[in-house]
Amino acid sequence: MSMKTNDKEQLANTTERLPNAAEQPMNATGQPVNVAGQSANVAEQPMNATGQLSDAEGRLPNAEEQFPNTARPKSGVTERLPRVGNGYDVHRLAPDLPFFLGGIRLEHPLGCVAHSDGDCLIHALCDALLGALALGDIGKHYPDTSDRYKGVDSKALLKTTYDLVRKAGYRLGNADCIVCLQSPKIAHLIPKMSSLLAHILEVAEECVSIKATTGERIGFVGREEGIAVYVTVLLWPCRVKGEG
Ligand SMILES: [Zn+2]
Repeated sequence: MSMKTNDKEQLANTTERLPNAAEQPMNATGQPVNVAGQSANVAEQPMNATGQLSDAEGRLPNAEEQFPNTARPKSGVTERLPRVGNGYDVHRLAPDLPFFLGGIRLEHPLGCVAHSDGDCLIHALCDALLGALALGDIGKHYPDTSDRYKGVDSKALLKTTYDLVRKAGYRLGNADCIVCLQSPKIAHLIPKMSSLLAHILEVAEECVSIKATTGERIGFVGREEGIAVYVTVLLWPCRVKGEG
């Protein structure tokens, strides 16, 4: 009985070495795709007991094989695996201050008390990116005691932070952000914020999720005394920007 074309393709896939992440083309949501644009089926990829991708012989590729052109992670880590980071920021609200959030200015009688422009969403995002690579927090990199950062546009801080991520051999997979704010309502501004942040982070808009919730009129958020933002990011290993 002759073999169907699909069977032949499947057989070829089982004997060939799996492509590394840097070689794999991605679709708009950051998923690896084959040359025909189809996402790889996870069930087809061999894994070891801890769920890490291995080659056909069950051997895990080492860091040099996987990412020959990337910088080594610090502290003796030999495997370059995806990394997650959490970020949190809070600002007090006060009258007659500009209110920047997600890179845009909101029309509101209150604004954030801050040394910089007070963009709580971008600060939490920077914190998550730094945390994913164990690079400390935003206060360490951009101290609020420095005149250099007085009134600074937080979009510039995000760009500088993301450059650190790219130089470490990672790129953003996706970010999920929760803005806790009683007023004003920001739902209609979320697409613009996502687009703006995704542009700085060099990903598609659907890779930057922003959700808004009120404080149900309780706590410092509910009493409109402040704003809080939580962010989780997934970073994916890749070639260092500007190399190979
Ligand atoms: Zn802040």
